[in-house]
Amino acid sequence: MLEICKICKTPSQEIFKAKILSKYDVSYFYCNSCGFLQTEEPYWLEESYKASITTSDTGGLLRSLALAETCSLLIYFIFDKNARYLDFAGGYGIFTRRMRDIGFDFYWQDRYTPNLLAKGFEYTEDVGPVELVTSFESFEHFSDPIGEIEAMLSLSRNILFTTELLSYPVPQPKEWHYYGLHHGQHISFFSDRTLRFIADIYGLKLYSVHPVHILTEKSLNPVRLKLLLRLRRFGLFFYVKKNMKSRTVADSNELAGRSCC
Ligand SMILES: [Zn+2]
Repeated sequence: MLEICKICKTPSQEIFKAKILSKYDVSYFYCNSCGFLQTEEPYWLEESYKASITTSDTGGLLRSLALAETCSLLIYFIFDKNARYLDFAGGYGIFTRRMRDIGFDFYWQDRYTPNLLAKGFEYTEDVGPVELVTSFESFEHFSDPIGEIEAMLSLSRNILFTTELLSYPVPQPKEWHYYGLHHGQHISFFSDRTLRFIADIYGLKLYSVHPVHILTEKSLNPVRLKLLLRLRRFGLFFYVKKNMKSRTVADSNELAGRSCC
């Protein structure tokens, strides 16, 4: 069986079937041309998203807090720290709220999950273009990856994201937890080659420094990037936090002002 690769539009070959949600036998198609793996057209997503953030994902809070530190360093030292930012597919708003608490002007967007913690800072057209779009653990959920990436690129030519990379040879269903067979929400799997292909399509550069990938128009120094992230563990984040002005109180005042009039 063949399907057209959602990234490079060449034929992809079925490489295995796996059981999703303990009941659907789903085919997985691998593209030799760009190294992208996709499931067959996902008809089970409504069931998968009954609880849009999976109940077994206990690491969500810790991950958001650690990523907030990582992103603070990258934004402070590489991007414009006074610009606006968007967390695309931002879940409950933990990351957006945390970034605002640190002092960065972050906004939230998500079509599937309610905004619980960053209320009042939903992204609208009025916010305008942003310096950088962040998006964590979302790429593997995209049923139209190119459409989603282009939606992000229409707001910024810099995207910082996380998704676990597909290795080669492609792991069998039982060999990689990231297939997420029990919840069925992971339907797009990117290899390093796929990300490079995407970067080339849009004339961007790709930098991968665990755990983040950055698609950007900027030329970055990979050694400096690695060093920055390593220094997070040695207190550099606290330097950044000290030099930023937290928005916690100002946001509260602003929201109170909005609701009173
Ligand atoms: Zn492809």
